[in-house]
Amino acid sequence: MLWLLAVISIGIVAWMWAVRRALWPLRRPDGPPWLPVELREGELVWSEKQFRCERPVPVVARVDRVYRRPDGVLVPMEFKRRPVARTYLADIVELSVQRYVLRQAAFEVSLRAYVAVVLAADGRIIALPVNLEDSAAIEQRIARLLALRSRAVEPEGPIHPAVCLRCGHRTVCKRYVGGMAAAADGHLETT
Ligand code: SF4
Repeated sequence: MLWLLAVISIGIVAWMWAVRRALWPLRRPDGPPWLPVELREGELVWSEKQFRCERPVPVVARVDRVYRRPDGVLVPMEFKRRPVARTYLADIVELSVQRYVLRQAAFEVSLRAYVAVVLAADGRIIALPVNLEDSAAIEQRIARLLALRSRAVEPEGPIHPAVCLRCGHRTVCKRYVGGMAAAADGHLETT
């Protein structure tokens, strides 16, 4: 009789395993093919959500997406529509600030995030990894921003002339260099 119970038990376990295997592709949040491998086993936890921290200074960050890896670590991702698949320093700073705010809320956040570039030509998405700045670096940036705002220090000029073209301070900034025109004339020293 015992052998019969054992056979039935094994049969039930095998059947449950087969059902589980059959449903596995439906349950796994593999997502689209462009999703980085490390996020395919994870889950999307936030989409277009705003976070803020109050200390040491008030900072607001709006995330496009945040995934949670199977090990529990959060990974931010920003979507950018661009003609080519590339990242900029501004992407790294933006994602690093998001990481900073999430860390202030006691979440564990990876120092590697992703910029999901949506190619303007055909809408294809390419997820590019970026290494983020740590919390100390972001606090230095915040301190510098506050010093600039209080006029305790002067801006040193743009890291690239194109930055001035889209800057909201260009009408009052003494360092405004006339954007790409100045660069083309060779009148620019980037800092
Ligand atoms: S206009 Fe002034 S503040 Fe704006 S990017 Fe250029 S140098 Fe910097």
